Amino acid sequence: MMIYIWPLIILGIMGLLLAVALTLSNHFLEVKEDPRIDVVESLLPGINCGACGTPGCRAFAEGIVKGEIKQVSRCRPGNAEKNYNPIIEYLKDHPNEDGTVIDVRI
Ligand code: SF4
Repeated sequence: MMIYIWPLIILGIMGLLLAVALTLSNHFLEVKEDPRIDVVESLLPGINCGACGTPGCRAFAEGIVKGEIKQVSRCRPGNAEKNYNPIIEYLKDHPNEDGTVIDVRI
């Protein structure tokens, strides 16, 4: 009977150790993302067409928030009323942690 119990005990201990390792990894290796990226992405058309020269709307939003993309009009399907101006206004109202405003224009 003991021959069947040892594998269960060993697998249980291994499962427990791996669960602890995954929990610690999740806690200490978590990548924190700027929450403004989600908002800017939601203000884009969401077509993911790539006409802006990025792989999709998410990458375009990341480029804007990181200051790598200065012109929101690179998003060709977008327009000033629904997309460009709301993004510019949002970023004016939500500056960087050091107080600088992201330089983005139409
Ligand atoms: S051009 Fe606009 S809609 Fe197309 S992927 Fe870029 S941000 Fe998204």
